[in-house]
Amino acid sequence: MGLAIAHQLARRGHAVRVISRNRNEAAGFVAAGMLAPHAEGLSGQLLTLGQRSLALIPQWVAQIEHDSGLTCGLRMSGIVVPFATEDESRRYPTSALGQSLTRKALEQEVPGLAPRWQAGLLFEQDGQIDNRRQLMRALEKACVSLGVQFLEGAEVQALCRHSDSQELQQITLRTAEGEVEHHPCRKAVLCSGAWSQKLVPELPVFPVKGQMLSLQGPRKALKRVIFGPGTYLVPREDGLIVVGATSERSAEFAAGLTPDGQSQLQAGIAALLPEASQWPPMERWWGFRPCTPDEGPLLGEGPISGLWLATGHHRNGVLLAAITSELLSSALTERQTFSSPDKNWLQHFRWDRFRTSI
Ligand SMILES: Cc1cc2nc3c(=O)[nH]c(=O)nc-3n(C[C@H](O)[C@H](O)[C@H](O)COP(=O)(O)OP(=O)(O)OC[C@H]3O[C@@H](n4cnc5c(N)ncnc54)[C@H](O)[C@@H]3O)c2cc1C
Repeated sequence: MGLAIAHQLARRGHAVRVISRNRNEAAGFVAAGMLAPHAEGLSGQLLTLGQRSLALIPQWVAQIEHDSGLTCGLRMSGIVVPFATEDESRRYPTSALGQSLTRKALEQEVPGLAPRWQAGLLFEQDGQIDNRRQLMRALEKACVSLGVQFLEGAEVQALCRHSDSQELQQITLRTAEGEVEHHPCRKAVLCSGAWSQKLVPELPVFPVKGQMLSLQGPRKALKRVIFGPGTYLVPREDGLIVVGATSERSAEFAAGLTPDGQSQLQAGIAALLPEASQWPPMERWWGFRPCTPDEGPLLGEGPISGLWLATGHHRNGVLLAAITSELLSSALTERQTFSSPDKNWLQHFRWDRFRTSI
């Protein structure tokens, strides 16, 4: 979120500084990169936000590729969601937006799919992007080429408000060299993902750990993403298959892989595509999704005046980066012309929408 918003602000001619504790811990490098509002079975405002972001993605990626000179690995490969029965397929929240598949049609879409899957939905409009190897680096390079400054290895430790107006006045940070510095700051966007509550305790954001692995499959072994219950397989152009992901709320911020998490992924692979169990494993990694009580993001002005929020995107932050960066950069820079439909979006995803229900 930080990179995507910095990029859009810089494109509009604004001076931006990105303060980042550790780029390698960002969920942006962890994610599978599915662009999947339909396959994920989203509903309500979150589905509409996801669909709007999906529609923006080709143009957003073209901007990043233009500004960075790098490709992002966008593939509108379509996503297949398999089910044990037709009834389950019909009851899926987004079933009306997908194409129903019989077992025979499923076999054509995903040769080698395990026999237990008797029905399916194909969402041709969903896709994927190679966030881990391409998008994140391209975003960083696009930012640098537009003059964005980076303070890498710097941890924001406190956000200080003016004692009378309560407006954001200064941030305190610890630099990569261990120096504590105070920087005057009137306007900032909080994009600290799963760690957001550590800086602003009022924000209901908590970590949901996810473990992942990748396999090297034959180059054209899979043409679609397969999104099974609990496990998905995402085929990149070069035959790398990204496999995800565990969803561990009780792990909190516990770092590292676990035998349970990794065997859950292996069992998921065998249950979806038995032959893939024979493909060589390449890499294993983990990270933390920034989740909220309703699993929707927190967007717009936060509890501190001058501090804007772009956090809590949980499972869909790669998908939602395009719309989030568009909404936030417009709200921050074009207050006069910022249109009411866009203001409504920020209203739907206000940080304090849970207050009555918690
Ligand atoms: C296993 C897994 C699979 C996923 N798969 C998908 C997918 O297929 N599709 C999809 O759309 N989304 C997916 N996601 C979700 C997506 O990755 C996240 O929603 C998104 O990356 C969140 O972006 P963010 O910028 O809010 O947080 P992050 O990417 O986590 O970045 C937060 C950054 O803030 C920095 N930071 C934190 N605190 C401080 C501080 N005090 N000072 C300075 N810097 C700080 C951190 O170092 C980090 O670099 C997945 C996530 C996981 C974990």
